[in-house]
Amino acid sequence: MKKILVLNSGSSSLKFQFFNDTDMIASGAVEQIGESKSSAKFVYKNEDVKHNHQIKDHKEALELVSSFLKDKEILKDFSELDACGHRVVHGGDKFFSSCIVDDKAIENIKEAIKLAPLHNKANLDGILTMKALASNVVNVAVFDTAFHQSMPDYAYTYAIDKDLAAKHKIRRYGFHGTSHKYVSELAAKYMNKDINEFNAIVLHLGNGASACAIQNGKSVDTSMGFSPLEGLVMGTRCGDIDPAALFYLADKENLDYKALDTLCNKKSGLVSLCGYNDMRDIDETKTTNDNSRLAFDVFAYRVRKYLGAYMAVLPRVDAVIFTAGIGQYDDKLRKAVLSGLEHLGISFDEAKNNAVSPKNEIEVISKDDSKVKVLRINTNEELAIAKECIKLIK
Ligand code: ADP
Repeated sequence: MKKILVLNSGSSSLKFQFFNDTDMIASGAVEQIGESKSSAKFVYKNEDVKHNHQIKDHKEALELVSSFLKDKEILKDFSELDACGHRVVHGGDKFFSSCIVDDKAIENIKEAIKLAPLHNKANLDGILTMKALASNVVNVAVFDTAFHQSMPDYAYTYAIDKDLAAKHKIRRYGFHGTSHKYVSELAAKYMNKDINEFNAIVLHLGNGASACAIQNGKSVDTSMGFSPLEGLVMGTRCGDIDPAALFYLADKENLDYKALDTLCNKKSGLVSLCGYNDMRDIDETKTTNDNSRLAFDVFAYRVRKYLGAYMAVLPRVDAVIFTAGIGQYDDKLRKAVLSGLEHLGISFDEAKNNAVSPKNEIEVISKDDSKVKVLRINTNEELAIAKECIKLIK
């Protein structure tokens, strides 16, 4: 049995899940690291352990995780781990798959910090802290971008000055790769197809949202680009927007690039249209509140538009997959995206869509005679990272 710790380090947070092989047995999160008041919540067998004292850095946070695992007799200390898997947001153009972290990998993750300053710096801190605490442990980096490195050049290239683009590595990278890969592999297995011959469109719709076109098991296009801002409408991100609208706003409102960054990443999307960034609130209010109605329609329309675009990108589509919070749980949104698409070979089954249960990992929501199967699948990025660790340490 392999003992695997999966870490997702943010700039002021640290989330973990502990696996015995692929069984998740303990989890937790430390928030507000480095602030005057931190909080931690760890869970093992229906039991919560909470801390509210100041946790000054990631090292202290990881030590707290270590003593929790020791108290619960899960692990004596980190040196007993078979591997520690780290979510790393940006692999730049260097990483095509997950890897065991060596000095070269550290250099390349560092290099990608400029492309995702907040995330990659924190992810790297997590790796370095684990190395310092338990030097014998194998660290594995799993990148959000790696799955999309198979995109063809015409899909990842922006039509801008090519020297400037090369100098600053401006291109489309794509994100959520761990989830797109994980659910597409589950779908292929479920449909008894070889992943290397499986074509699918994955709609990962959570707080962050992205679509992905998968051909023969590989990403050939995805809606997020240079950053996770491009593409679909999200909780607080605008997704696709004409850059000229931003130049115009900068001029009229005297906004600098930082203000535009905040506007587009934190103050746009669903929350800007109706005040709610949780789709559950929007579903609840959309019949009585026209702002909520519009937010829902804008979100659903953008998803539908990308679905149509990727139907044209792929030579054949075996499955359309809905996943992540909204994709998994919001039957109304799935209905809005999928209704009336018979001309694309999609026959949506409303009765099946209404009868789904979140407890099931995979469910079919298309009619039996639908040319394209539509599935809702529960994603699990942490489990996907644990599995990558097991694969790499073999
Ligand atoms: P993250 O991108 O943070 O991982 P999740 O995949 O957990 O996000 O998705 C979070 C979103 O899922 C919430 O903001 C909410 O809008 C949506 N969501 C969760 N449960 C439901 C539900 N039952 N109905 C509609 N939307 C839901």
